[in-house]
Amino acid sequence: MNPAETVHKEAHTDEHAIVKPAVKLTPKENRVISFFKDATPMDWEDWRWQLRNRIRTREVLEKIINLTPEEIKGIDGCGDKLTMSIPPYFASLIDPEDPNCPIRLQSVPLGYELETSPEELADPCGEDKNSPVHGLVHRYPDRVLFLVNEMCAMYCRYCTRSRMVGDGNRTLSMQSYEAAFDYIRSNKKVRDVLISGGDPLTLSDRVLEHIIKTLKEIPHVEFVRIGTRIPVTLPQRVTTELVTMLKKYSPIWMSIHFNHPKEITKRVKFACDLLADSGIPMGSQTVLLKGINDKPSVMKKLVHELLKIRVRPYYIYQCDPILGSKHFRTPVSTGIEIIEKLRGHTTGYAVPTYVIDGPGGGGKIPLSPNYVVSRDDEKYTLRNFAGQQFVYYDPK
Ligand SMILES: *Cc1c(COP(=O)(O)O)cnc(C)c1O
Ligand code: SF4
Repeated sequence: MNPAETVHKEAHTDEHAIVKPAVKLTPKENRVISFFKDATPMDWEDWRWQLRNRIRTREVLEKIINLTPEEIKGIDGCGDKLTMSIPPYFASLIDPEDPNCPIRLQSVPLGYELETSPEELADPCGEDKNSPVHGLVHRYPDRVLFLVNEMCAMYCRYCTRSRMVGDGNRTLSMQSYEAAFDYIRSNKKVRDVLISGGDPLTLSDRVLEHIIKTLKEIPHVEFVRIGTRIPVTLPQRVTTELVTMLKKYSPIWMSIHFNHPKEITKRVKFACDLLADSGIPMGSQTVLLKGINDKPSVMKKLVHELLKIRVRPYYIYQCDPILGSKHFRTPVSTGIEIIEKLRGHTTGYAVPTYVIDGPGGGGKIPLSPNYVVSRDDEKYTLRNFAGQQFVYYDPK
């Protein structure tokens, strides 16, 4: 056998081969499904069943996990925006006994959400004022953000769009879509459309296809991207039908919101394999969150796990100062320290860009450790990841 054949054969038997998770639930999944009367393992595989049965009340959640007084206060105080909603699959990842479980902190409201501080805003990134038509945010000349709906599978407690997402909201009407398409058609500078929400993958394949197809028919739109958290919170949504549809509109890029290595399960790997094998390049977007992923060791584990499922770490966001977010926000130095501990210490592909979305509408502003020790007219004195110094003579 020649070496090429050996390589080929290994590629089919290694851990990256697509293996559909058997319709056999993990012990944790079995525990959670047992709280849903008459539910079958086939239901568990069905994303629509998962969406219909999202955990939205204290009565259901307290059967599954032991709630703390702070959580009860948060759940009872939740308004009709950023409602509590946890797909049974995602709930199965929660540690029922540990209030500091990273999955739990992201999905179960706490009483602290009801406390606000002066620097907090409903719309911290000033999206509403950069919105020429309902659903579009046009901040950078060559690309637009298209918020196609207001529903997500799970409402992240620190969501930058907490002012608009939640089950109390409706989806955009077809007329709003038409107005957005018209705006993009008439703005020839727009070459990149980022479809987000809410979560676009809560839409049916049919509606999603309508949006993508219409955008791709606009001659100056070179490519579209989908911003989503669903491959993490509801990986069953990534079906062969979905990826077959997406593949028709290549190139489509996907930005997936990942925050913690515990989120990367066999099902999530399966979903990302389907996407990658369909030619969809994936990046991750991570929100820096106190007590969840603010340790360099956790972030390093996360970025390594992401490369293994073919997701390129793209951004780490400083947590936006939404109302009631103080318990999630870390000092900026924490983010810079994380990059310092990654750059040079691990694969370059594993190092994302740390950004702060300029409050009020500044867009993403990158922050990085300072590697310039000093500079003068003819040279830069630089330091490397290990702290050694090097002089570079700057050509005139
Ligand atoms: C993040 C964002 C984009 C996309 O920015 P990239 O850096 O190109 O990923 C576009 N528009 C708005 C309003 C955004 O917030
Ligand atoms: S999935 Fe995204 S839009 Fe939805 S709640 Fe989470 S952060 Fe917000």
